[in-house]
Amino acid sequence: MRTQVAIIGAGPAGLTLAQLLHLEGIESVILENRSREYVEARVRAGVLEQGVVDLFTEAGVGERMAREGLVHDGIELQFAGERHRIDMAALTGGKAITVYGQTEVVKDLIEARLATGRPLLFEVDDVRAEELESERPRVLFTHEGAQHVLDCDMIAGCDGFHGVCRPTIPASVLRTFSREYPFGWLGILAAVAPSNDELVYAHHERGFALLSLRSPEISRLYVQCRPDEDIAEWPDARIWEELQIRLGLPGWTLAEGHVLEKGITPMRSFVTEPMRHGRLFLAGDAAHIVPPTGAKGLNLAIHDVRLLAEALTEWYGAGSERLLDSYSTDCLRRVWRAEHFSWWMTTMLHRPEGDDPFEVRLQESQLRYVTSSRAAATTLAENYVGLDTV
Ligand SMILES: Cc1cc2nc3c(=O)[nH]c(=O)nc-3n(C[C@H](O)[C@H](O)[C@H](O)COP(=O)(O)OP(=O)(O)OC[C@H]3O[C@@H](n4cnc5c(N)ncnc54)[C@H](O)[C@@H]3O)c2cc1C
Repeated sequence: MRTQVAIIGAGPAGLTLAQLLHLEGIESVILENRSREYVEARVRAGVLEQGVVDLFTEAGVGERMAREGLVHDGIELQFAGERHRIDMAALTGGKAITVYGQTEVVKDLIEARLATGRPLLFEVDDVRAEELESERPRVLFTHEGAQHVLDCDMIAGCDGFHGVCRPTIPASVLRTFSREYPFGWLGILAAVAPSNDELVYAHHERGFALLSLRSPEISRLYVQCRPDEDIAEWPDARIWEELQIRLGLPGWTLAEGHVLEKGITPMRSFVTEPMRHGRLFLAGDAAHIVPPTGAKGLNLAIHDVRLLAEALTEWYGAGSERLLDSYSTDCLRRVWRAEHFSWWMTTMLHRPEGDDPFEVRLQESQLRYVTSSRAAATTLAENYVGLDTV
């Protein structure tokens, strides 16, 4: 088999890259180790920056998102028993975020890919990227019991945090930066209309809570927990009780509903540098992870592949390596801005380890500042909706 770009992973990064390359007439093969059903049902992110919405629209995969996505102009921060609105649109010259689940993004992208007739192979095994430093890289894999070799010009490692691409880069070349947080998020998806029109980020003495949503009928809710907590210790009734306490306000009630899904996610910050080795380009979670508090993970993945598609287009079209050479540096500027913002939101809103009273006072002061100073609120707003230039 031969193609121009071998894409490993059919998450948002790999699928979006394939679509952008297709629009430029560049061939690719996508290799995904899970089934289509599994990939389409994996509940994860749901907040899209304006720039990502614009990119999906321009790439011809935004039609359902435009119909079903929910545009939000603001978010609310809750602390000391009160809610304060951050009017993101007013603070950023009209920018907003769109609530549209990652499951829906992935379904739209898979449908678009299948419509192109270009290859998308699910349930491949034993994927190995080789000869990265040569001009003839290749990917070995097994599919439906047969072994294959895919020759290509370039390999895009879009296989997520636990993928095989990052570990193929020699350890002597890679530098990694990471931070583990002493807490996780217990998240539920519930069949109940969201009790608030906009997302509510709540700072509470029992721990952080987030009221979010996926659609007018489906709520997405989170409570801070220990990262190693056993989900069996959290029957639905206990989750709702904790949400009621942490999000509760006099005169406002959180509506409860049937829990459709629940899980615990540990929180971690992680960056790999550089994001390129020879003819292998890492994109999305394969190269970096953020804690979900800033809603940046999915957005960063899309920004990476936008730059990668531009670089490959210039290389195939004009033979110039300029953008390929600057790919890693260009991505990392945005990555580190998002790393800082996600860390900042996380440390401002979560109950610190050991309930350290000094840290709690700093958090309260920071929250009062962010909700009373236009300059501070603008900092939050412009990072949340996504900065154009960093
Ligand atoms: C539980 C959870 C909750 C999250 N919640 C949020 C949130 O609320 N907000 C937010 O912004 N972000 C959130 N994120 C992060 C966000 O979902 C990711 O940043 C986003 O999925 C990144 O997309 P990606 O395409 O880079 O990676 P992925 O979505 O991980 O896609 C990688 C793909 O590669 C495939 N793959 C892996 N190994 C191989 C292999 N060896 N061969 C072939 N294919 C392989 C995987 O099956 C997968 O389909 C969450 C992440 C997790 C794990």
